[in-house]
Amino acid sequence: MSLWLEGKPPRRPGLQGRREADVVIVGAGFTGLWTAYYLGVQAPELSVLLIEAEHAGFGASGRNGGWCTTEMPTWLGNLVLRYGPMGAMRFYRTAGKSLDEIEKVLSSEGIDAGWQRDGSLYLARNEPQRQRLLAWQDMRLKLGINDMTIFEGTAAKSRLNATSVIAAGFTPNCATVQPGRIAIGLASAVERRGVTIAEGVRAVHIGPGVVRTDQGDVRAKVVLCATEGYTGSLTGHARRVLPVRSRLIATVPLPDSVWQDLGWQDRMTVADSRYQFGYFQRTADNRLVAGGRGVGYKARAGADEVIFARLRQLIGELFPLLRDVEITHQWSGEYGLHRDSEPAVVFDPATNMGYAGGYGGEGVALSNLAGRTLTALVTGQQRAETRLCWVNHRSRRWEPEPLRWLGVRGVAAAASWADNYEDRTGRKAPLAGFVMRRVL
Ligand SMILES: Cc1cc2nc3c(=O)[nH]c(=O)nc-3n(C[C@H](O)[C@H](O)[C@H](O)COP(=O)(O)OP(=O)(O)OC[C@H]3O[C@@H](n4cnc5c(N)ncnc54)[C@H](O)[C@@H]3O)c2cc1C
Repeated sequence: MSLWLEGKPPRRPGLQGRREADVVIVGAGFTGLWTAYYLGVQAPELSVLLIEAEHAGFGASGRNGGWCTTEMPTWLGNLVLRYGPMGAMRFYRTAGKSLDEIEKVLSSEGIDAGWQRDGSLYLARNEPQRQRLLAWQDMRLKLGINDMTIFEGTAAKSRLNATSVIAAGFTPNCATVQPGRIAIGLASAVERRGVTIAEGVRAVHIGPGVVRTDQGDVRAKVVLCATEGYTGSLTGHARRVLPVRSRLIATVPLPDSVWQDLGWQDRMTVADSRYQFGYFQRTADNRLVAGGRGVGYKARAGADEVIFARLRQLIGELFPLLRDVEITHQWSGEYGLHRDSEPAVVFDPATNMGYAGGYGGEGVALSNLAGRTLTALVTGQQRAETRLCWVNHRSRRWEPEPLRWLGVRGVAAAASWADNYEDRTGRKAPLAGFVMRRVL
């Protein structure tokens, strides 16, 4: 059970005979909720119906690592290659402003999500990882983004007392959040603005003007799909988004003395710089939450347990003080990845259908920008957001099975091999950077 969803409210009723609306949104995660929120604020004359198979926040939005970050699911260099430096930089900067916007809405709607903007620290524990951090900083500087400070040697160690750290990159552009409370709070906020949320209603097919559900058809002028990692279950959408399974564990609340010994003074988020990286957050009630990237697609039964054990091992490896710490929560979730790793917001005025997603593991902030952008597209507003490079970007479809499975497993195995090679030899794994930059 996700730590973040403890104490969630009882399930809302289903359609209850509701058969039409101006706008129907499928999926009440952050994308669906932010879109409904801005439609409620900017176009209160529209009737908006949000259809959710389980409950608001059930998906990745109620299960993630709680990093509200300006980072992108794809390497910044890929965006530069495709859209040029100006396009990439405009997207990055506008996405970054989502942090201000989210903070503002949480405050105005009285949503206490433990928001704390203490930045992120990326650890390098061998020379190739250090080189990647420097290259990452260099790419940002070339785009005029001067937001990463690199600490070397003892200066890095003084930022966080983790084992074998030789360098660390700090960026202030990340807030730590309790994501479940954002989803639950936003659901109430949209209802206050007249949006109806129907829970326990599963869409099986979406088309222009109609959503077919397990409780009957709903007709709408506009149909928006916000199902991200679950999109493949809709008929005809199996190859649009790759569902990637990701796992997290949480410790018991730790005493202040432990945090002092770790040198973890505030609530900055922390990640290592492996290809299959581990990432951490210090929660408002002083737990350590650890997540990791691993083989997450069509995993075998028992795979969750293997990754949970790896995460426990990672905590002990980085912070020996916590080798035997008690773990109280373990959970997993699914996020969505497009074939080209780029997120997208798409709206077709000819069919009045749209969707947003493909955020990879970086959708907490991006989904807010997506919600504002979808709202502007649906209501026909010309805004800076609607001119960004991810608007109406269509990634090609994933390969049919079993090619997709083989490809994804191959890349995951390559990432794992590259990490082990770099840990063992201290040398850059041949071709790893080239391969990963194109697929992660
Ligand atoms: C374990 C994990 C850790 C992550 N960590 C981070 C992080 O630290 N920072 C970050 O920025 N991002 C992170 N992410 C990614 C981030 O959580 C997602 O990008 C974001 O929450 C996506 O929101 P969404 O609304 O698009 O999708 P979701 O939150 O997945 O919402 C989709 C909703 O659609 C519903 N649904 C699906 N199918 C149907 C259907 N047929 N009919 C009706 N409803 C349906 C689902 O029940 C779900 O509620 C993480 C993701 C995971 C899984």
